[in-house]
Amino acid sequence: MSDAHVYPVKPETAAQAYIDRTTYHALYQRALAEPDAFWAEQAERFLDWEQRWHTVSDYDFESAHIRWFDGGKLNVSVNCLDRHLDKRGDQVAIIWEGDNPAHDKKITYRELYEEVCRFANVLKTRGVGKGDRVCIYLPMIAEAAAVMLACARIGAVHSVVFGGFSAEALKDRILDCGGKFVVCADEGYRGGKVVPLKANVDKAAKHCPMLEKIIVIQNTGGKIGWQEGRDLWYHETMAAASADCPPEPMDAEDPLFILYTSGSTGKPKGMLHTTGGYLIYAAITHKYVFDYHDGDVYWCTADIGWVTGHSYVVYGPLCNGATTLMFEGVPTYPGPDRFWQVVDKHKVNIFYTAPTAIRALMAQGDRYVNQTSRQSLRILGSVGEPINPEAWEWYYHVVGGGTRPILDTWWQTETGGIMITPLPGATDLKPGSATLPFFGIKPEILDTNGQILEGAAEGSLIIARSWPGQARTIYGDHKLYIDTYFSKAPGFYYSGDGAKRDADGYYWITGRIDDVLNVSGHRLGTAEIESALVLHESVAEAAVVGYPHNIKGQGIYAYVTLNTGVEPTEQLRKELDELVRKEIGPIAHPDIIQWAPSLPKTRSGKIMRRILRKVAAGELDNLGDTSTLADPSVVQNIIEHRVVKG
Ligand code: ATP
Ligand code: MG
Repeated sequence: MSDAHVYPVKPETAAQAYIDRTTYHALYQRALAEPDAFWAEQAERFLDWEQRWHTVSDYDFESAHIRWFDGGKLNVSVNCLDRHLDKRGDQVAIIWEGDNPAHDKKITYRELYEEVCRFANVLKTRGVGKGDRVCIYLPMIAEAAAVMLACARIGAVHSVVFGGFSAEALKDRILDCGGKFVVCADEGYRGGKVVPLKANVDKAAKHCPMLEKIIVIQNTGGKIGWQEGRDLWYHETMAAASADCPPEPMDAEDPLFILYTSGSTGKPKGMLHTTGGYLIYAAITHKYVFDYHDGDVYWCTADIGWVTGHSYVVYGPLCNGATTLMFEGVPTYPGPDRFWQVVDKHKVNIFYTAPTAIRALMAQGDRYVNQTSRQSLRILGSVGEPINPEAWEWYYHVVGGGTRPILDTWWQTETGGIMITPLPGATDLKPGSATLPFFGIKPEILDTNGQILEGAAEGSLIIARSWPGQARTIYGDHKLYIDTYFSKAPGFYYSGDGAKRDADGYYWITGRIDDVLNVSGHRLGTAEIESALVLHESVAEAAVVGYPHNIKGQGIYAYVTLNTGVEPTEQLRKELDELVRKEIGPIAHPDIIQWAPSLPKTRSGKIMRRILRKVAAGELDNLGDTSTLADPSVVQNIIEHRVVKG
């Protein structure tokens, strides 16, 4: 793949960027050579501290003991709000765009500050204190950011649960973290539909004895159940609350939040992130990866229920005094041009979304993009899954008009922030590659025998040393944390993803290590085969898994979703087979192609290959944890059309 097309940094992008190629290499070397000095500088530059740290870093990957900026004291809400008031009190902090295109509003830093202080007092006067867990189950309304920051102000630990999760999934997460309060809305809007949030909380609450209060934001005004003494209206409590709330001084290592992984590969894990290191890492990556300049309008489409929403809708941007756009809706409502309409309406400069959205919009054809201007755009980002080169090219040429860099950012809930990514002014781009590591990140490639490989290589992606944004533990299960991330490659952080490093040192994520196929002794990543299939003009999306095959060990089973309006034919099947043979080699050609109207995905939009693997293997009564599945009917359809072949 190293011979892939290269898109060099454009001189006009480099000219205005904070980091050019020379600076990138110099800073990258420096961060590895003198990590403590480098990170201490960043801690000073990016944050306001009440008390300076005595130790920059202290970690050991055997016991997974990880500490940054020990002895330092600060408050996250002060860094995201108070300190901006003098200079940018009247600047817009949040542009909120509703599900309904007629609804939007702008909230200044001062307004957000007051809302946060008030709600912090609401929690405090009702007995929520430092270390208490507060679950947040909200739609993408601006109050969601305020509630997160209010928790941070008083030292309560928030656990945001995606508003699209069921009562059952919510219950599991409240129980797992021992949530004392839940903040929810009466209902939410999403894609023109109403989501019964409070009703789900009521169901979950029956099984959560530790839950004391439910605070309800009136959003739709819909009818909801009410339990006197337990339930409180947000607006009523806010009206009585003071807007003066001194921030709780927090230790750098005090917990900030718990957040569950997406559940693509199994049961979600509750990652615990702490205060100082997390915030520095979110802020520095937000500024340099997106090359955020004062006055830019920045839009990350992620829901706050995912780590991307935490680090790149709320904490990173607000810490940097940015204007961040929060979008309540979905990419296809009221039409498939919604993203681009919003870009034009709010003159968005930086846009960050997921491959699942890009592929879905690409399948609808170019005309929805072409009918918008998108002139304001300067930078485009992607996160969540490998972005197939075909989707990358579409994003680059059709959405970006061939002039904006695409930042394919690789990272995880566990990493707190972006780990491998291009920087707009520094990194030449290769479609499908997340390119180079961020400052302080030292990736390595491990082979199946546990050897670290040099140069161009393929294997497990591991990270050689700690970085400030790293999760500190799995809440309530440190042993699981060690077993999952620190035991498979002793002395390293084990990401669970596979990667290739090419001759230029560029990283290509090949998929989950557990999904790697072994066909007649050849190891094949899922991403490469899927990308070959997606190259076909009729294919919208593809997922590849292995299944037991008597001769080859594993056979290749491909689930293929066609573009809107395309009918599957034998001819098409042959073309796809040929395409993979040509792109990768005969070894990778699919043994089975099943036409799938849609693929099973997590609620964050990632393909759940583990379920597809079970279906391919015929293990239909043992599909594993399906609680994070977005639409169970998709699995039903796939089971019904399962192809059986020797
Ligand atoms: P679980 O850990 O519960 O199985 P998950 O891994 O999907 O779920 P997240 O932390 O939301 O949970 O996602 C991180 C994963 O997403 C990465 O490990 C990687 O597999 C994938 N990913 C994220 N960004 C990229 C990217 N730019 N390229 C390729 N893969 C990516
Ligand atoms: Mg994961």
